[in-house]
This record gives sequence, C-alpha cells and structure tokens, in this order.
Amino acid sequence: MSIDHKHATIVGAGVAGLTAADLLAGWGVNVTLFEKTPFLGGHAIQLNCKAADACVKCGACVAEDKLLRATRQAKVEIHTGTQIETISGRRPYRVAYRTHSPLVNADQCNGCGICFHKCPVPGAILQGMAPRVGPYVAIRRDLCRYFDNAACTLCRDACPQDAIHLSSQAQSGGLQTDAIVVTTGFAPYNPSRKPYGYDRFPNVLTSLDAERLLREQPMIKRPSDGRTARRVAFIQCVGSRDVQLGHPWCSKICCGSSLRMARLIQSRQKEAQITFFYIDVQTFGKDFQRFFRNARENITMIRAIPGDILRTDTDELEVVYFDPDAKASKEAWFDVVVLSVGLIPSAGNDQMARILDWTTDESGFMPLHGSERYPAPPGIYTAGAATGPMTIAESVSSAEKTVFDMVQYLAAG
Ligand SMILES: Cc1cc2nc3c(=O)[nH]c(=O)nc-3n(C[C@H](O)[C@H](O)[C@H](O)COP(=O)(O)OP(=O)(O)OC[C@H]3O[C@@H](n4cnc5c(N)ncnc54)[C@H](O)[C@@H]3O)c2cc1C
Repeated sequence: MSIDHKHATIVGAGVAGLTAADLLAGWGVNVTLFEKTPFLGGHAIQLNCKAADACVKCGACVAEDKLLRATRQAKVEIHTGTQIETISGRRPYRVAYRTHSPLVNADQCNGCGICFHKCPVPGAILQGMAPRVGPYVAIRRDLCRYFDNAACTLCRDACPQDAIHLSSQAQSGGLQTDAIVVTTGFAPYNPSRKPYGYDRFPNVLTSLDAERLLREQPMIKRPSDGRTARRVAFIQCVGSRDVQLGHPWCSKICCGSSLRMARLIQSRQKEAQITFFYIDVQTFGKDFQRFFRNARENITMIRAIPGDILRTDTDELEVVYFDPDAKASKEAWFDVVVLSVGLIPSAGNDQMARILDWTTDESGFMPLHGSERYPAPPGIYTAGAATGPMTIAESVSSAEKTVFDMVQYLAAG
C-alpha cells in the first residue's frame, strides 16, 4: 500500500529526529518536524570533531550530515522555536502547537558577535552551530533578562544590523497526523548542586562547555583570564552512577568522549598535563581498548572521585580527593577542571508523556520503542537518547529501526 499521502510528526530535531525525518521523507511520507530551540541538530551538533592525526570515530560529523539531508528533503516541513501543546483524537491525531518567532532575524544578522560580548548572562545568547542552515545567533528566552522583567536591552541596542527584535510574538497552529515520533533527547546534568564550584568558579566547565569552547578556539583557555590552560583535570561520572541523585545508570558516552577530548587537547597543546579522575573506564566498542591503552600513556589516571574543588588566591583550582593506594586525602592543582556530566532525562520527555497520556519509565526516559512493559498508544514511537543514554551512532540506528516499524504501521492503514 502506498504511504505517500500519510503524515508523520517528529518532536525534537536532534540527530535521531533528523534521521527519522530524512528516512520517512525518503519513503514518501509527509513529515513535520518540531524543534523547541531555534537550532537544529540537538546536542550532537554542538560537539567538536576529536580527530588529532586520524579519525577517532567520535561521530560529531554525523550530525551535520543528518542535518543537511533532512533540511534538503522537500517533504520535510520544519518548525523551529515550536512546542506541541496538545494532541487529541486517534489516528489521525490532531496536534496543536505554538511557535515563538525568532528574536534574531536570520536575514539581517551577519554573525558579528557584538551581542555575545554585550550580554551579561552567560549562555543567554547562543551561537548557531550550523550556520549554513540556521541563524548565526539565537537568544534563549528562559535566560534572557528582557523576559525576566529586568528589561535589559543591551544586545538589541548594540546590534549594528538592527537584527534583534525582543518583542516578537507567539503564534498557534495545528495539523493532523497519522503517527508521532518522540525524539526529545536527553539533558546534560547541571552540576551546580555538586561541591565543585560550577557557576561560581569560571574555570570549572562541564564537558559540554568544553566542547563549545573548543569549537570557538583551538586551545583550552581559562575563562577567568584567557590564558591557555596547562593543567587540565577531567572528573568523570558527575551526575551519573549516582544513586543519591536517582541516576544510577552509566551515561555510556562520557569516558570515550572525555578521553578523546583529552587526546585532542594534548595534540594541540604539547605542554598540557591531563589528569583523569574516574570510577572505572567504560570501554565500549571493539576499537576502544586500543585507543584507551594509547591514551592512558600520557594521562595521569587517578581512580577516585574528588570530594571538593576550592579556588586558591592565585586563581588555581584545588581538587581534593581520597587516594585509595595511599589511604589518605590528597590535593592537586589545576588551571581548568572539566566535569563529565551525565545524560539525564530531558524535560521534553515528561511533557510529551503528559500530552500523549502515556508515561515515562521509572528513570524518567521515554519507554524504548516496542517496550512490553509500557506499550505505546497506536502510532506513537520513540527513538534516540529520549529513551536512555546513547551514542550518536546508536541514536541514528534507533531512529532507523523506528522508521522501519512506522512504515509498516502506516502501510497497514
Ligand atoms: C558533552 C557530551 C559529549 C558527547 N560526546 C559524544 C561523542 O563523542 N560521541 C557520541 O557518539 N556521542 C556523544 N555524546 C552523545 C550525543 O550528544 C547523543 O548521542 C545525541 O545527541 C543524541 O541525539 P538525540 O537526537 O537522541 O538527542 P538530542 O541531541 O538531545 O536532541 C533532542 C532534540 O529535541 C529537542 N527537544 C526536546 N524537547 C522538545 C520538545 N518538547 N519539543 C520540541 N523539541 C524538543 C531538543 O531541543 C533537541 O534539539 C555526547 C554528549 C554530551 C553531552
């Protein structure tokens, strides 16, 4: 049976959502892709290629490829800045959504970056990760002071292109759809609650902050004074494998990702000394053991999770940890500390479970597509890291599997 008159809705334009959109359109299905932020590509598009002298299979380049493929499909309609408000009926489902018009006019913005420097709130202005298909910058309403009654207009006043329109409006829309895929992804754990000084000490970064920094500049520099960091520490499992937080799972990607980043830093900054604090290293994949053996030759590996980070009067970071061999508390000093934050359920999961009158699993992730324990309503599917921590390659293959099942469902009428 032909399915080229069928319609599918995808919620979340990370690598899983983009893969699903591209494949469904390839089968002739009309696709609407909703993304709540102004940018496509989710977390994967924010990552840095980790190749030093050869490809290390980090998967970062996959995201851009998926993004370009999905955006070139005539049958894929994309709504950024958009969230679903309600879903009613049963096949076809009726979807009501709300779109916030972008605060930065992509045609007028030339990406000069003046707004970044003027903005007093870190992270409130984001740089476009894929400028070929999206705006150069976007303003986050949830962080921008203009929307917090403080009426800050520094970015708008400074913009030489008059591209920033802080008072833009929201519009409602609706559509009918035969099937829905939830690809709302994960959230990186916010380590502010940990005793590591994140949010207080500028040289304590999350792994995602470090990825963004390395996209902007080749060296890891200390945000406090712009000096190139010589001593860099990675602390693993921040917010994962933590029963007290209710996150007992291993986030799977962090060991590989941090070790690749450590190698990249060493290849660019020959004098850099890297220390790796860990519980145990998860070496997934058949090539990883070899990579790990090579990597650890030049990295100081310390099997301990530090209890505290303090800032010294010379603006160094003092890391306090318990050395299990010496059975004593020790200190070490660093220019920059990178916290390898865990992957936790995104707020989009709860939101979609509520809208769909369904459920998340006990950890807060969406039930895996096809789960017997949490059977999905008819025509509702999940894919990618919305269902649990996954690598980019796994997110892609989970979207492929989901699309395969959806196509059969749509064809069955
Ligand atoms: C620091 C760090 C380093 C990593 N390094 C690697 C690596 O080296 N190799 C690797 O393979 N993987 C790595 N990963 C993991 C990789 O980022 C994920 O595998 C990938 O991003 C999962 O893609 P996804 O599409 O499932 O989810 P996401 O990337 O989280 O995308 C989900 C999208 O859905 C959107 N969304 C959420 N809720 C809604 C809603 N209600 N409505 C509309 N849109 C919504 C989000 O804005 C987002 O764009 C890393 C992750 C982190 C944090």
